[in-house]
Order: sequence, then C-alpha cells, then structure tokens
Amino acid sequence: MRLPVDLHIHSCLSPCGDDAMTPGNIVRMAVVKELAVIAITDHNACRNVPAAQQVAQEYGLCVVPGVEVTTTEDIHTLCYFPEYAPLLDFCQWLDDTALPIRNKPHIFGRQLVIDAEDRVLEEREILLLPGRGGSIDVVEEEALARGGVMVPAHINKQANSLLAILGSIPPDLKAMTMEVFGEEDLSPILGDRAAVRSSDAHQLEDILEPVHCVSLEKATPGEVVKALRRGTLL
Ligand SMILES: [Zn+2]
Ligand SMILES: [Zn+2]
Repeated sequence: MRLPVDLHIHSCLSPCGDDAMTPGNIVRMAVVKELAVIAITDHNACRNVPAAQQVAQEYGLCVVPGVEVTTTEDIHTLCYFPEYAPLLDFCQWLDDTALPIRNKPHIFGRQLVIDAEDRVLEEREILLLPGRGGSIDVVEEEALARGGVMVPAHINKQANSLLAILGSIPPDLKAMTMEVFGEEDLSPILGDRAAVRSSDAHQLEDILEPVHCVSLEKATPGEVVKALRRGTLL
C-alpha cells in the first residue's frame, strides 16, 4: 500500500510549537490533508501523543508514538515506538537526565499537555529544549532496547543535525533510515540507507500535503517502526 505520511510534527507541548497545535487540531488538519500516517514528535517529550491517538481513532488516521530527542551533542534525532507505553518509559529516562532549567514561556513559548477535548491538563515547567539522555549512539541503544527505532532528524540542516555536528554518519550507528530536509539528494552519503522526508511542522498550515508516500503492509505504528528499522519505508 502506498500511503501519504508526515512523521515529524510538533504539538503545543514543544515550546516552539504554536499553541494552536493541539493534538485534536493536528489530527483534523492531517485528515483534511488526506494523510494516512502521522507522528507527533515533540522536543524531548511525548505527553500529547495519547490525545492525538484518541482523536485519530474517530478518523482512521494512524498516529505513531514519537519524540524528537536532543542528544548531549545537540543532535536532533527522532525516536518512534510501536506503542505509547515504551515511549513514555523512554521519555522518563530522558526526564531523569535533563538539566533542571525552568522554562521561560515569554521567551521560549508554553509547553502544554492537552487532552482530546483541547483542555490544558498541565504546563510542563522544566525547559524541554536542552540536550539530555546521552550521545546519539546511547539514545539509539535506549530506543532499540524498548522496541523502538531511531531516525536522525533533518541530517542536512545547518544546525542540530548529525552531519553538521559530526561531519559524517558514524559507522557504528544502526539507523537504516535518516530524515532528509527538503528535496536534496543525499544518496551518495546515505549509501544503502533510506531517506524519509517530513514537515517538521510547528504550525498547522505547515503539515504536509499528501506528497510523500511510503510503502507499508498496514497503517499501524508497529509496521512503521519495522519499516524504519529495515530502511524499507520508501
Ligand atoms: Zn529538529
Ligand atoms: Zn522538529
């Protein structure tokens, strides 16, 4: 099955995410745009995933549980899981290693946990942006150990990317899929790894049109994680 996807979307839990990026609004916009699979990937946090999955059930949209981790080298990397529980456990590990820096909402933006009816459940106080967890190889091991997969984010961007910070793909990294920003052809660098392209949307209108389609046997988080692990999500 060829399915249109957008696997990198920030909700209002990310300080830089627009407050209108509630889980319900994201899901309904994805439905309007006729996407089949999306992922909510907030910075170092995941608590808006359950509300998105709850709303998505009504529309038959698949929401993959995810998070965009900032490693201790300041590399952004996406981690996806077949279910919410292992993601929550993974984010607890991230929380346990985070610096206790309080958010300044007037500078960085609010960090809102929202339910399926758009009600604010909590405002996270510790700033979610700084690096945590460990280096990229440690983050990958922790994701794999919980049944997930790590996909380095926007590897060709000038900031917070694997290539900008490390210069090349470390040979011991197991990731078989990398996120590429824009339309640049990185196949000489990627070798036999696959590229996935997503919106990195922080506002509703930036969520992708149904332009990036992938092959999946079924639209389930488990199938998406499997395909990302194998590098066959093309
Ligand atoms: Zn990023
Ligand atoms: Zn992002």
